Amino acid sequence: MKALTYQGRHDIRYGDVPDPAVTSPTDAVIQVTAAGICGSDLHIYRGNPFSPELGYTPGHECVGVVVDTGDQVTRFKAGDRVLVPASVGCTRCRACAAGLTARCERAKSMTDLCYGVSPQLPGSQGQALAVPYADVNLVHLPEGISDEAAVVLTDNAPTAWYGCRRARIQPGETVLVIGLGPVGLMAAQSAFAMGAARVLGADLVAERRAFATTLGVEPVEGEDARTVIREMTAGRGPDAVVEAVGSDATIELALKAVRQAGRVSVIGVSQTKDFPFHMGLAQVKELEFAIGLCSVHYELPALLALTQAGRLIPEVVVSHRLALSEGPAAYELFNSRADGVRKILLDPAR
Ligand SMILES: [Zn+2]
Ligand SMILES: [Zn+2]
Repeated sequence: MKALTYQGRHDIRYGDVPDPAVTSPTDAVIQVTAAGICGSDLHIYRGNPFSPELGYTPGHECVGVVVDTGDQVTRFKAGDRVLVPASVGCTRCRACAAGLTARCERAKSMTDLCYGVSPQLPGSQGQALAVPYADVNLVHLPEGISDEAAVVLTDNAPTAWYGCRRARIQPGETVLVIGLGPVGLMAAQSAFAMGAARVLGADLVAERRAFATTLGVEPVEGEDARTVIREMTAGRGPDAVVEAVGSDATIELALKAVRQAGRVSVIGVSQTKDFPFHMGLAQVKELEFAIGLCSVHYELPALLALTQAGRLIPEVVVSHRLALSEGPAAYELFNSRADGVRKILLDPAR
């Protein structure tokens, strides 16, 4: 089949790879109908991979149609339209039984938990994908949810919802979202759905701030974000901050901007090993800090219902649909942040 492969820093190629197959009775193979490129794929593209190996297919966001199932798969059959959650569970441990796949007790690192970050679980940016433990690692797609919305629901939207849940947003509060990419935009929508009165949005890219205003976000404009945020919140700071970038500078901004006894929830992917954290200040401020990775399965029931009801509109974050064969150019475009790019979907049929 045709697929993209990761060959090193800034080197994504389109070509032939072996067809995925059912190798265990609990596997399924799906034909991919749309695959997303995620911000965390860009981490890998920019030379910060999770595995030293090369040549594997990247990507962990897709929707598709089941084409083959192992003998022990009971909930899915060929022809079913499915969404593939980005986080992969084993089904058997206590965490997975509760839907908390990102905390799977069998997983030792990111390469056990996610497609497309090593050769171990080849990714979704190809024409087909092998899914282990298919009965739990696939989700039936209900009526009325488009491929565009569904791809955002595999990772970006649940991550945003999880981040907002962990920020314990209360009705009437003011929330700051840092980073207005697909996850930040979904965090803004989630915050409103949870009852936030105001959502402020910070991002270095003016085009992204401008787009966020179409969702009701008040953009943080100006050089000194912290001062501007304070001015926008009557000198107090926001009640909660959802950080969707993962850089040291933006996590620090979140910690400093939040009000006394406020909550900071980090969902941007961080690989920092040594973060300077002012413990005394945190104590005086009575700060609550949360950081983690989303268990997609756990968040999906609420998100599918909210999307079907039109209370969340995940597809608005999609800005480009390109052919899979244009994958290398798609990565370049996403990396450059040019052309108003927010989220790119790849069409494996082309
Ligand atoms: Zn993703
Ligand atoms: Zn597990």
